[in-house]
Amino acid sequence: MDAITLDAELTAVLHDRGQRVTPQRLILHRLLRAGPQHLTAEELLAHSRPQLPNVSLPTVYATLDLFEELGVIRRVAGTGPAQVYDSRAERHHHLRCVRCGAVSDLDADIDVRAAARAAEGRGFAPERVEVTVTGLCRACAAAGAASAV
Ligand SMILES: [Zn+2]
Ligand SMILES: [Zn+2]
Repeated sequence: MDAITLDAELTAVLHDRGQRVTPQRLILHRLLRAGPQHLTAEELLAHSRPQLPNVSLPTVYATLDLFEELGVIRRVAGTGPAQVYDSRAERHHHLRCVRCGAVSDLDADIDVRAAARAAEGRGFAPERVEVTVTGLCRACAAAGAASAV
């Protein structure tokens, strides 16, 4: 998608929710959609440096939180201390490598309703049910196997 289409998309969402359209929000949104799909606030800050030399990390966090509230992006569940954000906003599951930290999408037919029902059965009000499978990515698993030889 080109920048004009992306800007129009975000502008519509912001206007819809009575939020201001700022150049900073537009640029951060463009960077999020240009990929990498999964990234932390620190990584987004680094990507934005050439275009937004004065933007601060708290501002990036605040913008990411706003985007999440607006359904533009989503937070990846259970990704440890450095929160990972995802420009694919609909519900899906993830793989996370415990060695290199790589996060990728896992498209699997998981019965999230059963998990939600079980949570409700324990008096818990579930908001999101997502699965994050942790382990070793292909590259790290291969490196581990190689070094073991
Ligand atoms: Zn890895
Ligand atoms: Zn994802």
